[in-house]
Amino acid sequence: MPVNLNFFSPVEQIKNAIFDEHGVEVFIKRDDLIHPFISGNKWRKLKYILREAQAKNKTHLVTFGGAYANHLLATAAAAAKFGFKATGIVRGEQVFNDTLFLCSMHGMQLLFTNRDSYRDKAGLFTKHFGDDTTAFFVDEGGACEEGARGCSELITELSETYDDIICAGGTGTTGAGIINGILKHQLNTRMHIIPVLKNGEFLRPGIDKYLAGPAEYHLHTAYHFGGYAKVTPALVEFIKQFTSSTGIMLEPVYTGKMMYALFNLIEKGHFKKGSRILAVHTGGLLGILGMKERFNFTG
Ligand SMILES: *Cc1c(COP(=O)(O)O)cnc(C)c1O
Repeated sequence: MPVNLNFFSPVEQIKNAIFDEHGVEVFIKRDDLIHPFISGNKWRKLKYILREAQAKNKTHLVTFGGAYANHLLATAAAAAKFGFKATGIVRGEQVFNDTLFLCSMHGMQLLFTNRDSYRDKAGLFTKHFGDDTTAFFVDEGGACEEGARGCSELITELSETYDDIICAGGTGTTGAGIINGILKHQLNTRMHIIPVLKNGEFLRPGIDKYLAGPAEYHLHTAYHFGGYAKVTPALVEFIKQFTSSTGIMLEPVYTGKMMYALFNLIEKGHFKKGSRILAVHTGGLLGILGMKERFNFTG
């Protein structure tokens, strides 16, 4: 089956008094609407990875992730849709949460491995699937050249230009792809990436290795909220407030931090008056199901 999704990812304007006060306009690219499970940037990354697998006659995707990884679920759902078998090698002891339940629903085989052996992904692949000539290695998070290529297409879809684009960064592949799109279309757009992990400067080499040419971009490293998948009461409040006032859902691991950062940077006067800013909603909304108790709803 040809690897293609006919998807819908519109750009919508978001209104807020803070934006008016600072003279900026904010828009959001709704990659969360692409597909419920092959979500957001994970579809963009998987597109060329799956095409490459197909071109090499590989029918079994083997990939890696933590027990809540959006990438595992996206791979499971994409594998099911496009006729691949899939194995997910999961970091840590055996658990069964909402994400892994949905992976299993899509037919993904799960293989749990301790944190030590998880570090050597190539070794794990060879150990378990070295004899399987149909097996195809897909790195954690879909981080690779093909992944960045898929993400660059986000720019091609835009019918207007923006002064600034902002997205969350885990590996930085999505940000790098978008920068490549900006370069390709020779736009003057400034790119802002919000690392969701601590010490976010470490992302730079991961981004730079995928760039098609020299490019400047801004890494705003102060919005990790304590580290990967960590939250604070202020972040939780912000996400509740944003979701209930816009009807656009955010989750705490990536998009919540990105949007919090955007509001905070606007309030600090980081953007010139008259700026048109595009925030990328990278999807991954089911991740919130693993963090329900942090939201303090009494039901
Ligand atoms: C995986 C993911 C990211 C991080 O993407 P990278 O390309 O690794 O930087 C951002 N947002 C969401 C919702 C994700 O699931």
